[in-house]
Amino acid sequence: MDRSDIEFDAKHIWHPYTSMSQPIPAYPIVAAQGAELIMANGNKLVDGMSSWWATIHGYNHPVLNQAAIDQINQMSHVMFGGITHPPAISLCRKLVTITPEPLECVFLADSGSVAVEVALKMALQYWQAKGEKRQRILTLRHGYHGDTFGAMAVCDPDNSMHGLYKGYLPPHIFVDAPQCGFYDEWDQRDLALLEQQLAKNHREIAAIILEPIVQGAGGMRFYHPEYLKGVRILCDQYGILLIADEIATGFGRTGKLFACHHADISPDIMCLGKALTGGYMTLSATITTRHVAETISNGDAGCFMHGPTFMGNPLACAVANASLKLLLDSPWQQTIANIEKQLMAELMPLASYSSVQDVRVLGAIGVIEMKQPVNTAALQKVFVEAGVWIRPFGKLIYVMPPYIITPEQLSKITTAMKMVLT
Ligand code: PMP
Repeated sequence: MDRSDIEFDAKHIWHPYTSMSQPIPAYPIVAAQGAELIMANGNKLVDGMSSWWATIHGYNHPVLNQAAIDQINQMSHVMFGGITHPPAISLCRKLVTITPEPLECVFLADSGSVAVEVALKMALQYWQAKGEKRQRILTLRHGYHGDTFGAMAVCDPDNSMHGLYKGYLPPHIFVDAPQCGFYDEWDQRDLALLEQQLAKNHREIAAIILEPIVQGAGGMRFYHPEYLKGVRILCDQYGILLIADEIATGFGRTGKLFACHHADISPDIMCLGKALTGGYMTLSATITTRHVAETISNGDAGCFMHGPTFMGNPLACAVANASLKLLLDSPWQQTIANIEKQLMAELMPLASYSSVQDVRVLGAIGVIEMKQPVNTAALQKVFVEAGVWIRPFGKLIYVMPPYIITPEQLSKITTAMKMVLT
């Protein structure tokens, strides 16, 4: 990559959430290995982001590479309409086994946002099949579920997206996010607003969607497992479907295989993505119960009305199978507990800085919440110079490293985080 490539990129290529007229720098990465990204100039950056929660086993993993190569030689893709294949069957079999008990019908799609669209459509079709017009979704403030229209409509209403598309998004019901943190003493009053909303509007509500335990892109907040338990009880009480968006939290990130396990609950619909393929390629899954699946299937439509071109892509399924095997054959609980312990030891003391509002750690996630919004581009420059890859947003400087990170590499990350505090 030379200078003209970088100039072309800045002028012609959109990056996530950036401006075409004033793009912030995009750093040239030409390779990646283990927990490191390798820049065009040869410099190495220890990865604190797992490419947005996804690359749990690190980059360029020989087992995942081999799974992709083997599958390419067999069949990269084939349509899923009227056709099935071994990689999809193995993957769905595994997902049915490892997700909470009553979840057993799997819909494979392209990305996290699409998995959320699919979950919302399932909820709507479920009520349609039952002969009830329930089209509103109840969700939590500070939530994030993706950037497509259905998903955006259930994201926090106060971030810019709702303002931008006002009038176009279906109006859903928002309740304040839980206040009791993961480690706080539980206070039953945390559920009061949700209870009130349900008592008032339950006949209109098709489903509750939430991110279990960790609200990610909407604020990196960790809430109390009792809250999630309470939501499940209320959903049962009012006969409302519970959709758990485990796209960020799934596959061990919070210390449990799925964040729902912290509260010992099972949702009616679960969305998975990101780390599903170990971060190799895009794939998502929406898994529901037989009851929901059959209710939908016995409705007027006679089917679930969704079918992406790349549904069940064999290449992605093959890598997902290899990634799941790597994870489940490894001592992942201990690995994540070790990362958690180190993040706690190295980040918690930073709470004493005057610029810091809060420091929190859960599983392989470490968050420093600042009092003021940070300058992402300026901080990234400092981080890159320090040899680490961390991408802060808003008031948050946060990391969720690959599980294979070494203690020395993790210390390099936490040292860099400390370095930018005042
Ligand atoms: N739900 C959650 C909880 C997420 O964190 C994300 C991605 N940040 C999504 C949905 C959307 O996934 P994708 O970016 O793959 O569409």
